[in-house]
Amino acid sequence: MPRRSCLGDFDILATIGKGSYGSCKKVRRKLDNRIYVIKTISLEGMSVKEKDSAVRECKTLADLDCNYIIKYYDSFIEEHSLHIVMEYAANGDLQNFIRKSAGKEIPEKIIWSLLIQMLLALQYMHSRKYLHRDFKSLNVFLDKANKVKVGDLGVARKLDTESFASTMVGTPYYLSPELCENVSYNSKSDMWALGCVLYELCTGRHPFTANNQAALILKIIRGTYHPIPTSYSRTIADTIARCLNKDPAARPSADELLAKPVLRSHARKLG
Ligand code: ADP
Ligand code: MG
Repeated sequence: MPRRSCLGDFDILATIGKGSYGSCKKVRRKLDNRIYVIKTISLEGMSVKEKDSAVRECKTLADLDCNYIIKYYDSFIEEHSLHIVMEYAANGDLQNFIRKSAGKEIPEKIIWSLLIQMLLALQYMHSRKYLHRDFKSLNVFLDKANKVKVGDLGVARKLDTESFASTMVGTPYYLSPELCENVSYNSKSDMWALGCVLYELCTGRHPFTANNQAALILKIIRGTYHPIPTSYSRTIADTIARCLNKDPAARPSADELLAKPVLRSHARKLG
């Protein structure tokens, strides 16, 4: 078995994120000069059980091996923190991509390509009984070839948001109706979030917005949103509508969507 990495194996190039969990750094591995991201999660104040579950969670992530998911390479504990070595996505996240389009519509061809890659990532995860649980434009990255890499899977979240309603921070734009009603999370909740991201790609806005959490939850439960521009095909609008169906059972699975002829023909173009 290969030796576990340690912090000394890497040169730190930049800090790309800092939060209550710890930090995210862009690093270069000395051995092969390759660029990675190291996410550091503070273990201080955590019980042995919580630490164990963090380490176990990392092992699960390392098992996921899909072209469209940020690869988790290694993890190790050092300086009272858990360090996770993962693939670096050079071209930022989808929220950034949407902002860069600065009000100009993203061409439909690009939307199909992004959608298929996100679906392939979700299909891969769901077929392994793994749920993303925090699917959003900020967590879908683009690599240097602009290929989709879904990231931010699990770890920190699983650790500190077991009881998610009480610890929810920020505005829950991607919350599905069933979660508003405290029904447990399932793969269709990821599909709802995918519908939200697809909507954002077409409009530059979230489908449901409000000034406060309570008002937002009401809008999500009501389930009405402004239509996307008519310049996009009916098929795109329909796909959004199917993912944003209030009834999780009526939402398509990633498998079902990928089996649709229109998606298959776009997928073929992806190669
Ligand atoms: P949070 O999502 O709570 O902001 P993260 O640690 O997930 O914290 O991310 C911090 C920052 O690092 C974000 O700006 C994110 O876009 C970026 N980031 C996270 N993972 C990667 C990655 N694998 N490649 C490139 N950038 C990343
Ligand atoms: Mg994130």
